[in-house]
Amino acid sequence: KKYGVNELRKMFLDFMESKGHLVLKSFPLVPQGDKSILLINAGMTPLKPYFTGAEKPPRTRVSTCQKCIRTGDIENVGKTARHGTFFEMLGNFSFGDYFKREAIHWSWEFLTEVVGLDPNRLYPSVYLEDDEAFDIWNKEIGIPAERIFKFGKEDNFWEHGAGPCGPCSEIYYDRGEKYGCGKPGCTVGCDCDRYMEVWNNVFTQFENDGNGNYTTLKQKNIDTGMGLERLAVVVQDVDSIFDVDTICSLRNLVSKISGKEYGVHHEDDVSIRLITDHIRSATFMISDGIMPTNEGRGYVLRRLIRRAARHGRLLGIEGNFLATLSAEVISGSKDGYPELEEKKEFIFNVLTNEENQFGKTIDQGLRILADMEEAMNAAGEKTLSGENAFKLYDTYGFPLDLTKEILEEKGYEIDEEGFKAAMDEQREKARSSREVTNYMGADATVYDQIDTSVTTEFVGYDHLSFESPV
Ligand code: ATP
Ligand code: MG
Ligand code: MG
Ligand code: MG
Repeated sequence: KKYGVNELRKMFLDFMESKGHLVLKSFPLVPQGDKSILLINAGMTPLKPYFTGAEKPPRTRVSTCQKCIRTGDIENVGKTARHGTFFEMLGNFSFGDYFKREAIHWSWEFLTEVVGLDPNRLYPSVYLEDDEAFDIWNKEIGIPAERIFKFGKEDNFWEHGAGPCGPCSEIYYDRGEKYGCGKPGCTVGCDCDRYMEVWNNVFTQFENDGNGNYTTLKQKNIDTGMGLERLAVVVQDVDSIFDVDTICSLRNLVSKISGKEYGVHHEDDVSIRLITDHIRSATFMISDGIMPTNEGRGYVLRRLIRRAARHGRLLGIEGNFLATLSAEVISGSKDGYPELEEKKEFIFNVLTNEENQFGKTIDQGLRILADMEEAMNAAGEKTLSGENAFKLYDTYGFPLDLTKEILEEKGYEIDEEGFKAAMDEQREKARSSREVTNYMGADATVYDQIDTSVTTEFVGYDHLSFESPV
């Protein structure tokens, strides 16, 4: 039977509830009291205080379906079958309660018995020194040794600086030869879409003191994460996360609005998938109170909206279209996230305002950029000056990466240092003019926090965030 996305979410949470877990609602995308990340990127991140023992969990077994944003995956979106900037992560967590044995057995039970995946297509991986996990897979579950992959620290040991850390065991699904890259040696761990990672089980059993010294934790934890959309891909046996039931109807709407049939031209398909993904992120971000601005999270949102708007132009869409798409996101996801329905008018307004604002300048900006390209061509240059990139940013509202993306498609680069310098110069000017108009005790440092330097941040963002393995 082919379960839908909304059914699968419920099946997972019901299953974990039957194993004694307390099911919690998804936490908001905006981290609460955690300055180390801009946006929640995994099920475990809002639960960190329970892992470290800083706070007492409501129960030692918790399960969630967590909305996640990973802008670090943005380059993959539309190109791989399995990456979105937005996705939902199903997870079960043990705070000093059960450990490896239960976690592995339950993940197997869920995948093979509850949703009925073919066990012969599933491949676990373990950290190469984790004999305990290997033996559970091999002797208890009965997976032949040659089907269990042993990987090193980069792949199968989860840690982030100091603190709780440990080996992990991932479960891959072989989607068949037609999804393979065809290169010799393509197998579990290959970066192509054939052996798709579905679930990651992290065994947080050590504490790293920050200098690479590991001690065994008194409290052993379990932290797992499975992409709901990826689960749906394998259960529904479809090509990509853009083909699962709820997302497919959104994708079809993009096709309908643009008049571009899906599956005909590769470039159109990439744009269709990208818009489909970005509108999901934007809808959920706005629903969690993020507004398009020029800094931090707000800039992440602005960039996603503007990138979607530009790809809409590429597909030939005229006028605003994002609110219409957002309505489809909401009707597909309100089952799991009823707050979307309550906030929909607000979400549509924010999207339309941002589209209007960018719409005023995008066509002109694109023309100016085309002129700049021509000038570069004539001069035999391959790099757009920082000044020009800044002009596009400042006057036409083009986020740096948008300009970069457009130019990269044609083999050009940007002088990013020059862009930063132009930005700094403008900031300096703004500062000195503020000093003059700084009346009524307004504190200049407040303005400094709304710093334009963060606008280059889509690149820098990855330094701020950590992509936890789960
Ligand atoms: P990959 O190697 O495929 O990029 P990952 O190792 O980065 O995945 P984890 O950090 O282990 O992923 O996250 C746990 C699970 O979340 C993954 O096994 C996958 O099912 C899902 N997941 C991770 N990133 C994405 C994404 N960008 N889009 C959709 N699902 C994702
Ligand atoms: Mg990844
Ligand atoms: Mg991985
Ligand atoms: Mg992983």
